[in-house]
Amino acid sequence: MKLVYPKYYKEFRCIASRCEDTCCAGWEIVVDSDSADYYKTVSGEIGDRLRREMKTDSDGDIIFLLNNGRCPFLNSTNLCDIYSALGEKALCHTCTRFPRFVEDYGGTCETGLGLACPEAARLIVNETGERELLFEFNSDLPLPNDIDPEKYFELASLRKTIFAVIDDNTMTFENRLMKILELAGESNPELPAVKNCVMKLQKLDILTPRWKKLISQIPEEKDFLQNVHQMQNIAWYYIYRYFLRSVFDGDTLSKARLCVLACVVINAYSNKETVADIAHLFSKEVEYSADNIKNIFIQLKGNNNETF
Ligand code: SF4
Repeated sequence: MKLVYPKYYKEFRCIASRCEDTCCAGWEIVVDSDSADYYKTVSGEIGDRLRREMKTDSDGDIIFLLNNGRCPFLNSTNLCDIYSALGEKALCHTCTRFPRFVEDYGGTCETGLGLACPEAARLIVNETGERELLFEFNSDLPLPNDIDPEKYFELASLRKTIFAVIDDNTMTFENRLMKILELAGESNPELPAVKNCVMKLQKLDILTPRWKKLISQIPEEKDFLQNVHQMQNIAWYYIYRYFLRSVFDGDTLSKARLCVLACVVINAYSNKETVADIAHLFSKEVEYSADNIKNIFIQLKGNNNETF
């Protein structure tokens, strides 16, 4: 199996108790079935707590219900009680993997860091080197899949072209975003107004009071001059993470529109010092709620001409 990852991927280190946000606050943790089975067998006080805190939600998932917005195992020093009592191997898949994401394309597995972790966001947004994908091979067999190879290679090639557009410093950043829309199939590519983008976000579930306060105000239209390099990194992240998913639904336009919407909104709410922070907040709210990411892709759908 071929493993693909961005150049910065292996530089990430969780800053644990020094983290200003912590991934264990604000989200309900979904516990995979192997971990749930193991937690049922753990003895002692931690075993009793694990069994007490595992609940089944309306989708049938086993979750740890939040306690005042925090994972019930996140202690007052922002350390994880499961990790402390049972070690890293006892963490469920969600906690082991975060902030990493994985996209499987049969013989190729693409992985990366998600912007929803503030430390990963700083690494991704403030990266000053070349934006580059690295790869390696492991002995895992390709996963069974029904991907059309011709479509896959066509999209991979189109993504490379889009990466080159993002890197093309002879164009304004605004023109690069419009070019991305055009390459993805937009017939009349234009940058959306900040107001229209924010109104789409206001239709999503709001997870944090900070985001609620932020998007209750519509910022002024703003050019990208102050933040070009950081915005290139953000555009690259959204194209890398989502564009190839079009192999499953054929909708390249919604992926390009998400990239453009993210750039317009993050740029409008931030200055040079706060881009990573706003990108992290945007990602946490939009990408890391299953309902919200589904909803935003519906609003941005390629055949929905009224929405962008
Ligand atoms: S949000 Fe990131 S840095 Fe913070 S605790 Fe989670 S993985 Fe670590």
